[in-house]
Amino acid sequence: MGFNYIADVIFINNFDSSYNVFLKTGTCDYCSKNSLVVHRKYSGELICTNCFTKRIEKNIYQTISKYKMLKPKDKIVVGISGGKDSLSLLYNLKQIQANSYHSNPIIAITIDEGIRDYRSNSTKNAIEFCKQHKIEHKIISFKEKTGKTLDEIVELKKRASKNTYACNFCATLRRRILNETAKNLGADVLAMGHNLTDIAETYLMNILFKRFKLIAKQYLFKEENKEIKKYFVRRITPLMKIPEEEIFLYANLKKINYYPSHCPYREEDPILRKRVLEFIQECKKFSPEIEFNLLNGFLETSEIFSKHYIQESYNSCKKCGYPCGKINICLYCKYLSEFFI
Ligand code: SF4
Ligand SMILES: [Zn+2]
Ligand SMILES: [Zn+2]
Repeated sequence: MGFNYIADVIFINNFDSSYNVFLKTGTCDYCSKNSLVVHRKYSGELICTNCFTKRIEKNIYQTISKYKMLKPKDKIVVGISGGKDSLSLLYNLKQIQANSYHSNPIIAITIDEGIRDYRSNSTKNAIEFCKQHKIEHKIISFKEKTGKTLDEIVELKKRASKNTYACNFCATLRRRILNETAKNLGADVLAMGHNLTDIAETYLMNILFKRFKLIAKQYLFKEENKEIKKYFVRRITPLMKIPEEEIFLYANLKKINYYPSHCPYREEDPILRKRVLEFIQECKKFSPEIEFNLLNGFLETSEIFSKHYIQESYNSCKKCGYPCGKINICLYCKYLSEFFI
């Protein structure tokens, strides 16, 4: 199912009371215009659609500046899927760079995992967007990097009756390939379209699994170990303070031609992430500010944990040299060796 533009936004908002933003008629708190306004349940604000898009853009700019995400000469690489988040991010970074920064031109990367009836469609939106905005765009596939598409890997695992899910492989492989590609392009930062809802969900997952060291590593102002820095391009998430439904509204109001469907594996795999997201959506009906609490919890605890868990020495993967855990092989190489057995 796809939603496009304002009429459909009104349609979807009328039918789902869990939404944190509604469109209705009223007076804008910012310009006093009487018109269609966005009602933010978590703050009580009424904002006309024109002020709304401007405030979303201001939010992105302020997040970049507050968390020192960019330096003037940074070479920016943006990971794009063709969905609403990544294309909204790319659109804004292009504007911000043109107005305030003087770095090299932005390059976009799409990772094609090889997911039938999904990725080739969303990639078309990514290609079209980059063409329209004159942005260099690279597409790298799992197949060319690992010899297999994600669909082939899932099929192999099914036949071996292994109880592992598509997302486990996909996330690890994609993270590595994105990082490698960005590094090869000389990137200083790798910008990702994770929104507030994604950050809240990941933080809650990490708490549930007691991944405190991981939370410590995600502290936004942590001092990077020089050795580790050699391997990883710094990641930034400028949409981290914007709830998913607001990005949805923004992308539609700006008429960004994004691919509206989700990956089919998200529905098939009984991973906990999906349940955590449903739990957050349920909580939002009663406490609209819940995602902001989780984000603030993440910002505070990541700082505290980063002081508690001082960077330990690490091992190097015997296959690729990347930093890894105690067993001397990183997860990426472990998966690759399993696919070819
Ligand atoms: S939902 Fe899972 S399989 Fe699909 S793109 Fe995301 S991580 Fe990959
Ligand atoms: Zn207004
Ligand atoms: Zn390795």
